Amino acid sequence: MTREEFVKQCAKMGIGISLFPGLLASCSEEETPVVAFSGKVLIIGAGSAGLMAAYTLQKFGIDFEILEASDRYGGRVRILENFADFPIDIGAEWLHTSPSVFGELIDDESATGEIDMIPYKADTMYRWNGDQLRRFNIVSTYYGEYKFKTSTWFQFFDQFIAPKFLDKIRLKTPVVGIDASGDQVVVEDDQNNTHVADRVIVTVPLTILKNNFINFRPSFSRPKQAAIDKSIMPAGIKVFIKFKEKFYHDIVQVSVDGLRDSERIYYDAAFRKGRQDHVLGLFAAGEGARELTDLEDDNVIIEAVLDELDQIFDGKARQHYIKHVVQNWSAEPFIQGSYSFGGENYEDTIDFLLEPINDKVFFAGEAMNKDYWATVHGAGLSGIETAKEVLRRP
Ligand SMILES: Cc1cc2nc3c(=O)[nH]c(=O)nc-3n(C[C@H](O)[C@H](O)[C@H](O)COP(=O)(O)OP(=O)(O)OC[C@H]3O[C@@H](n4cnc5c(N)ncnc54)[C@H](O)[C@@H]3O)c2cc1C
Repeated sequence: MTREEFVKQCAKMGIGISLFPGLLASCSEEETPVVAFSGKVLIIGAGSAGLMAAYTLQKFGIDFEILEASDRYGGRVRILENFADFPIDIGAEWLHTSPSVFGELIDDESATGEIDMIPYKADTMYRWNGDQLRRFNIVSTYYGEYKFKTSTWFQFFDQFIAPKFLDKIRLKTPVVGIDASGDQVVVEDDQNNTHVADRVIVTVPLTILKNNFINFRPSFSRPKQAAIDKSIMPAGIKVFIKFKEKFYHDIVQVSVDGLRDSERIYYDAAFRKGRQDHVLGLFAAGEGARELTDLEDDNVIIEAVLDELDQIFDGKARQHYIKHVVQNWSAEPFIQGSYSFGGENYEDTIDFLLEPINDKVFFAGEAMNKDYWATVHGAGLSGIETAKEVLRRP
């Protein structure tokens, strides 16, 4: 069975149900890599890709450590608790494939627990053109995806993945140099500490590679550098606002001049969660985000958002406002944007993004999965693939 057939087969089994990962784990790929490698691996970055790479190495008994720049794991998967009567994903929130992918990621028959998913098919969908709000209905084809009902993307990693190797995650350790010119790879952090390993898996966002935050020795091949230069990871932001009443629709796409549809959407964050609180989410990436992320600070951002909502909903936003939270992903020093926007021939670009350095430094992340780039599950599967690649090579 090819990988594509396998994913489709799993998809048939997982749609629209409360999911028991322990059961679905039996759907995982039979492919067990021949483990030719023994030695130490350093993983740079503890987002979905880094965590899944670690999970895979752990399963095969390989010695590893994760060096994470920020003070938490999860990367662009992050939870907001105690804001409403349900936990909120202030980064990635939707599952853009079948829930059966959880089984593929966990791949452990001893895993127990339930992940309750909501098929995401909005009932009321409108478009705001800066002047008028018009209803439209392309929901069934456009939003065929899932949301967590009682849990979050963050809790998936927190419950099923990270607990297996918490002691191996070094937080607040930004990596500034990776030298693969000798027998072993020498990694330097921003405190001038060195960490030595036989292999390194780099899972930092594209922006960090583009900005040369990490000094690689030897440097990237020309085609790899060209692939990094031409790849795009534009601005990204989320805002959540709690209101006294629900005066808004399931989805409002902002489609004003200069913005492509769906680069900025307002949506009911409590959609079908069966909770009391009214929380409206704003999700924006690309140009739809940059108008906001370029503003001076979070106070100016929330005023701009409330202005737009008051325009759309005749002043009801400020009337019913309780509180808000702004999560400006472009302002996060170790993220600096949203996710990769694959352009023409992006699949070929990915081949170069993945190109290892001296067969010692490997790469993974959301920008590097040909089947599902720009997604959490795509990042996670990329981490697994790259870890297996390391295992296969002596
Ligand atoms: C606003 C927003 C909404 C999104 N919505 C969705 C969604 O609904 N569904 C979906 O599937 N996807 C969504 N995504 C995309 C998804 O979040 C990403 O594709 C995925 O989480 C990326 O995982 P990753 O492991 O590749 O990278 P990251 O999660 O970014 O992890 C990389 C890690 O590397 C660390 N790091 C950076 N530099 C260094 C350094 N020098 N040294 C050490 N560590 C470093 C970072 O701190 C970070 O923890 C969204 C993203 C954003 C920003």
